[in-house]
Amino acid sequence: MSQVFILIKEHLNLLLFILIVKVVIVGGGLAGSLSALNIDAETSIFEEHHSPGFPMSCAGLISEECYKKLIKLSRYCKKAKMNRIRGAFLFSPSGNYTEIIGRDKGIVVERKILDAQLLREASKKSEINMNAKVLEIRRDKILVRIDGKIKEFNFNFLIGADGVYSIVRKRMGFKSPSIYTAIQYLIEFHSLDSNMVELYFGKRYSDSFFAYAIPINDDFARIGVISKKNPEIYFRNLIKKHVSVSERVGKSIIEINNGAIPIGLIDFVRENVALIGDAAGMVKPYTGGGIYYSLIAAEILGDNFPNLKKFKTEYLKEMRREYIYGEKIRRLYTLLSDEEYEHLIKIVRDVDLSKVSMDSPSSILKIMPKVVRLLKNSKLFLKILNNFIFKNYI
Ligand SMILES: Cc1cc2nc3c(=O)[nH]c(=O)nc-3n(C[C@H](O)[C@H](O)[C@H](O)COP(=O)(O)OP(=O)(O)OC[C@H]3O[C@@H](n4cnc5c(N)ncnc54)[C@H](O)[C@@H]3O)c2cc1C
Repeated sequence: MSQVFILIKEHLNLLLFILIVKVVIVGGGLAGSLSALNIDAETSIFEEHHSPGFPMSCAGLISEECYKKLIKLSRYCKKAKMNRIRGAFLFSPSGNYTEIIGRDKGIVVERKILDAQLLREASKKSEINMNAKVLEIRRDKILVRIDGKIKEFNFNFLIGADGVYSIVRKRMGFKSPSIYTAIQYLIEFHSLDSNMVELYFGKRYSDSFFAYAIPINDDFARIGVISKKNPEIYFRNLIKKHVSVSERVGKSIIEINNGAIPIGLIDFVRENVALIGDAAGMVKPYTGGGIYYSLIAAEILGDNFPNLKKFKTEYLKEMRREYIYGEKIRRLYTLLSDEEYEHLIKIVRDVDLSKVSMDSPSSILKIMPKVVRLLKNSKLFLKILNNFIFKNYI
């Protein structure tokens, strides 16, 4: 009998909590909607634009596992699916390429549709305020411009899901991640295989990252460059001078996006405020992909809410290793010379990548013994070993 009372008390406490506690979520993009869907409390989303995911700059490549999780949240996310990816071609600076097939299959989604479906799902349990730009944050309230009028809203908990230039991060005194720049075209392109991503390495195509082509069908691809600076220059090099891309790119351009990518997970919890998604630097440091890591963060936030400290500890427990290895891989993009890229991409042919997962950079450890054997006696061997063994960046 006493157990029944305890159960009823727990349920009443939860109900009371849901009714009393006000959670404000700034940003109605992916991380904002995912947070609202996972938190059991009264949530209000404030989104500065009148449609979600606008302006959007994302290639929309996610793992099949991530896609399945999104569909579990809303079956309408299926509408966002555009293409299926089975692997990648890694291009060396001179244009030679190696095919790699990892553990995961990939799905290309249209982010405008995905974000709209997630926000629509979130609206079933959350109050959505569109055209509502958060201008200022005080101790327990936000100042919002809604339809031209300034209004105040109180909160008990504040979630900053407001992207790479987060106002919540700035106003609440969090550190900023490093910001990389990106340019992306949705453009006519004859892929070598429309179910394979193409990655282009070398100093001509990015100062410290890579360029890519992600096919959405047989005729079009999202072609982009991520770099610390001047992505337009690298993009021009890619489409005008790259020995293979320049031959396959067409004239029809459907969309051009400029974007920014936060690299480096920052401290993302302070008292009653948490950052999530790009605001917190929750992206894979070696690809710039943020959808999966934000999804995992939202799940952990929901499991631990309202204990934000525990949200942080649990997220780090699950993901810290991935950030460390993602960062180690990303470091190679600046460390490797064009010659070394040529060598590395050639030897990758002889490595079995079937256990390496795109969402888990630490899974690269599974191929390290083979890579080390193949690289033995070269200068590259020491460089890679030093990078992987001795340097931790988190
Ligand atoms: C070129 C490019 C390609 C990419 N490709 C991939 C990919 O293939 N796969 C992948 O996983 N990731 C990719 N990413 C990363 C991915 O797009 C981001 O990690 C993801 O969008 C982060 O979601 P978010 O909700 O945190 O931020 P956003 O999607 O930026 O959402 C933030 C929201 O907050 C709103 N907002 C901001 N300030 C305020 C304010 N003051 N008041 C109210 N609302 C506000 C914005 O309007 C926006 O809707 C790519 C990024 C770029 C730039």
